[in-house]
Amino acid sequence: MIHSDQQSDNRVSVEPVDKRKEWKLLYHQHGRPGLEEGSRFKGLCRFCELNDMCPLPKPEGGIWRCTYYRAFRKKSNVYDNVLKQLEKAQDAVPFDENICKILTETMNEIIVHFPVKMNDGKVKILTGYRVQHNNALGPFKGGLRFHPGVDIKEIKALATMMTWKTALTNIPFGGAKGGIQLDPADYSTEEMERITRRFTYALGDNIGPDYDIPAPDVNTNAQIMAWIQDTYMSTVAPNERNRCAHVVTGKPIESGGSQGREKATGQGVVFLIERWASEHSMDLKAATYIVQGFGNVGSWASRLLKRHGSKLLAVEDVTGAVSNPKGIDPDDLSAYVKEHGGVRGYAKAEPIDHATFFGTKADIFIPAALENQITDATAELLNVRLIAEGANGPTDPDGDKVLQRRKIAVIPDILCNSGGVIVSYFEWLQNKRSEFWDLEEVDFKLKKTIHAAYDRVQAAAEKHSVDWRTAAHIVALSKLETVYKERGIFP
Ligand code: NAD
Repeated sequence: MIHSDQQSDNRVSVEPVDKRKEWKLLYHQHGRPGLEEGSRFKGLCRFCELNDMCPLPKPEGGIWRCTYYRAFRKKSNVYDNVLKQLEKAQDAVPFDENICKILTETMNEIIVHFPVKMNDGKVKILTGYRVQHNNALGPFKGGLRFHPGVDIKEIKALATMMTWKTALTNIPFGGAKGGIQLDPADYSTEEMERITRRFTYALGDNIGPDYDIPAPDVNTNAQIMAWIQDTYMSTVAPNERNRCAHVVTGKPIESGGSQGREKATGQGVVFLIERWASEHSMDLKAATYIVQGFGNVGSWASRLLKRHGSKLLAVEDVTGAVSNPKGIDPDDLSAYVKEHGGVRGYAKAEPIDHATFFGTKADIFIPAALENQITDATAELLNVRLIAEGANGPTDPDGDKVLQRRKIAVIPDILCNSGGVIVSYFEWLQNKRSEFWDLEEVDFKLKKTIHAAYDRVQAAAEKHSVDWRTAAHIVALSKLETVYKERGIFP
């Protein structure tokens, strides 16, 4: 496996030897004392696992930007995982073979290469993706991710998961996902705006308010959605413009966004934790939790759990992990992360390593970062009763087996993080009807919708004697199967 710094013209690339304990430097454009091409070295850094030997350039501020290796290492099989899970659901319930054939493939895979002028006057060619998995239930719907690890396989996997999620929650949308392979930290705000606008332009009519509706995901937010909205609206005929405001969801409130959308995914996670806790004698006032990923989903879930009196013991993000047995204030940590870009250096908690983070004894673990974080190795370390999957695909199939053996309960991703797409649907509806719902109404409807999905998964798990992840897939597949059977296959 190659670890390369793609953002800086392949200045560095390394490959592991000796089960990742020793590394060989393959290519290093600028040279660096002690790290000649072909040289071998040892030492494991927290992120890329090379420690101080990590050859990636150290940016100002001293944080090693080693998202790359973990992204490469972990994501390679994410689409295979999605297909394996589909097979598992089919093993439990024999779904129509022809319909499964349709659902095993994505409908459209759009890859665009587009030029963007950088601040230094040079032009950079970037690659963006939009995968539309299925639209049997309604317009394609799914987030946009800006991350160095983005590639077609990852986006296919995430698009497929979106189809399951919308089917499971009874939302009249299909499944899609998109993204650009980049690290936003490498670009200025002006460059990010030009990249976003040019990507939107390159996608053209492949997105649209009643056809395919993007939303925020990792490293994208309401501002990015506003740029997409404005670009899209600027490229249609003047008399069409105001009918296109709902081309994206997760917009700023003033631009047509919904109350409660920003916190929606974290809110949904907490509604389900409350529900699970009430059914399993877990007192949230006395409960403890750990969180991986402290962006939109992780920070909101933490802040909302704090309102119950639960205690946050440890947090890990891309910059490091911190712990405080007396508790970390999620609001205070959120303010710190906003200012410093991550949890690293947070003075009110001690730095800990990856394994210690995973081994922290707590009642609840909320993974809210990337895919494949809970593997067979990390699942063995976990010391929790419940995992509430805020992230998409945080558990790989081997990790899942360990969790089942160890009887750690899981609220699976397609159920647990569905609050985002549910409130996106509410935003879309409000835009179409020119309505504005207050926060109380949004939260009430979100709770009702996500609890109904929880009921369906619980009932399917009991009926088919399967784990909750398989049950959630059975519910989603059953709905899609019914719709395909009713309509038939054209022609
Ligand atoms: P975000 O960009 O706001 O936050 C991502 C967080 O993950 C950051 O704290 C980042 O530091 C951390 N992270 C990244 N790489 C990491 C690594 N290698 N190790 C540890 N931490 C790492 O993104 P988000 O919107 O909060 O999304 C997080 C997850 O939730 C993703 O899986 C996303 O697909 C899923 N999700 C998001 C939404 C939404 O509405 N935003 C909805 C459903 C699911």
